[in-house]
This record gives sequence, C-alpha cells and structure tokens, in this order.
Amino acid sequence: MTSTPGSGAGRPVDLLVVGAGPAGVAAAMMAAGLRMRVTVVEADAIGSKVAAIGALENVPGGWTTGPELAAALAGDLDRHRGSGRLALVHGRATGVTAHGDRAEVTLADGRLLVGAAVVVATGVTMLTTDDVSWVEAAEGSRTAPLWRAAPERVAGREVAVLGADRPLGTWLRSHPSTTARFHVLHPASDGYKTEEVADDDRVRLHPVERAAIARLPGGAHRVTAFHRDGTGCRLDADVVLTNLGSRPAAPKGLAADADGYCPQEMQHPRVLVAGDLKGARMQRIAVAIGDGARAALTPYYGSLT
Ligand SMILES: Cc1cc2nc3c(=O)[nH]c(=O)nc-3n(C[C@H](O)[C@H](O)[C@H](O)COP(=O)(O)OP(=O)(O)OC[C@H]3O[C@@H](n4cnc5c(N)ncnc54)[C@H](O)[C@@H]3O)c2cc1C
Repeated sequence: MTSTPGSGAGRPVDLLVVGAGPAGVAAAMMAAGLRMRVTVVEADAIGSKVAAIGALENVPGGWTTGPELAAALAGDLDRHRGSGRLALVHGRATGVTAHGDRAEVTLADGRLLVGAAVVVATGVTMLTTDDVSWVEAAEGSRTAPLWRAAPERVAGREVAVLGADRPLGTWLRSHPSTTARFHVLHPASDGYKTEEVADDDRVRLHPVERAAIARLPGGAHRVTAFHRDGTGCRLDADVVLTNLGSRPAAPKGLAADADGYCPQEMQHPRVLVAGDLKGARMQRIAVAIGDGARAALTPYYGSLT
C-alpha cells in the first residue's frame, strides 16, 4: 500500500475516513465524487479483510473472489487520488474526537488529522483464545485464524477448529476439494451456526463446555474437550485454528453499546459510523458499501461547516 507522507496531517479536510474496507472506500469515493477533500486512514492494506475471502456469491457487480474485489477497491482509491482531492495515510487510528466545529483523528504515531466530519469504518477484529473463557491454551500452543488458512496448510491433516463461527462455511465452500478432517469444538450456544457445515463429510462437530490445548513434542497439539455431562475426550491435531467470532475494532472516543458496537444514533453529529462496526447483524460487503456511501452523504447534505 502506498501513502502520501504527511498528507492531511494538521490541514483540515472536508471528510476523514478511518478504515479502507468496502465501507470506508465507498465513503471516500462518494465524498471525492462530490468534490469534497478527503483523507483516508488505513492501518493495513486496502480491502485487507475481503482479500482473504476465497469465494463471493452475494456481492453485486460480478465479484466472485475477495482478492479481485480488494484489488478493485484499491484501484478505486487510486483513481480518486489522481484528482488531488483524496489522500491516503498509512497508520492506525487510536482515537476519534468531535468538537463543535471539527472532528479529529489521532494516529498511533502521534499524527493528528482534522476534518469537518469523520466516517469511522474500522470493521471487526477476530477473537483469539485470550478473549474467550471456554478455551484454555497452554503457553506455546500455536493457533491461527481459520479464515486466513491456506488450503496447503491443512490438506490431508487432522485439524482442530475452535469455534463454529460463519467463516467455517465460507472456507469449506471456497476449498471444496481440500481433504482434511475438521474437528469443530464449539460451545452449545454456537450450535445454530453449525447447520451450514453439518453435512460436509470433512466436518466432525463437538459441542463442548470447555477445551484445553497443549503442545506436543514434534509440533502437534493435544486437544482435550470437556462435555457438559462431565465426560471428556482427547484428540491429537496437526493444526489448531481459531474460529471464535469477532469483536468491534472501535478506536477510542466512539460511543459504544454493551457489546462494543457503535450505532450511529449514539454518536456526535460529526462522527459517522459505517459497515460492520455498527452492529453484529448485517455484516455483509454490499451492506457496508451502501452504508459507507450513506455516511459520506450525511455531512454533505447536512452541510456541516
Ligand atoms: C471469512 C469471512 C468471510 C466473509 N464472507 C463474506 C461473503 O461471502 N459475503 C459478504 O457479503 N460478506 C462476507 N464477509 C463479511 C465482510 O467481509 C464484511 O461485512 C465487510 O468486509 C465489512 O466491511 P467494512 O468496511 O465494514 O469492514 P472491513 O472490511 O473489516 O474493513 C475495515 C478496515 O479498517 C481497517 N482498520 C481497522 N482498524 C483500524 C484503525 N484503528 N486504524 C486504521 N484502519 C483500521 C482494517 O485494516 C480494514 O481494512 C466475510 C467475512 C469473513 C471474516
């Protein structure tokens, strides 16, 4: 990803956009198309989340893979950067502050960006074993997120998957010919998420009360599952992958509900929220795109000065 050194720093623009996923890119394009001056802040690569989605079947425009869509999002921003109205800053936003006449974004490296309004579209971040109480991972046990796992990593192996979140279904559909045995350990409360994978021959479902992971000599892992009735079972897995769900990736300064999500109605008028960060439901690419565009139009029509 390229960035313009110092762009936007200290110099007020019409709109700041934090996060360059589908929501942030849509907000930035909508604003730049309306001749607003825009600064986009992205901590990783443009469209980094969608780039890891193997197969898409619900995004209008003919997109069938995440990497193609991510490349198109980067191309969209590049086109608008050419107009001189849009700048891209590589950095991690740590805080958002709204004042009567402006909004500010603080970056981890100390830079301060100022705009008439800000769209925050930082999405969600995946939970790790440290975030959930039902998994106990011994020091040294190595886990990685399922949704980023390459098929070569698991092919022909015994794989323990911690959690039954939806990326499992997407991963299995994206790699129909990868042969591996997936032991999916999940709390009973996640049972409803398993319907879409229950018929896949590669999957074994294990509803558990608790699970413990320990590293074995040679690199494999011993996974001990404890059931509600007090019984337990063990399996040795070549690979342990996490699929535990996600939590909102909100920078400080946003108003959040009990689950950490940031609904629009809780925010200062100069702070617009778009995409997955708004709530646990409706987390889809097409929704994020529409939402980002709407967020950019709000200050435009509201004519914040
Ligand atoms: C495995 C998987 C499969 C999926 N499959 C589908 C599917 O088939 N169809 C579908 O419609 N949806 C799917 N989704 C959901 C979809 O990816 C999201 O709904 C969509 O990406 C949300 O867009 P967004 O712009 O709100 O957030 P994101 O795409 O998450 O973008 C947020 C951006 O903000 C950046 N960021 C985060 N924090 C900061 C910070 N502090 N400072 C600066 N930048 C920051 C991130 O790096 C990221 O680029 C899937 C998700 C996963 C995980």
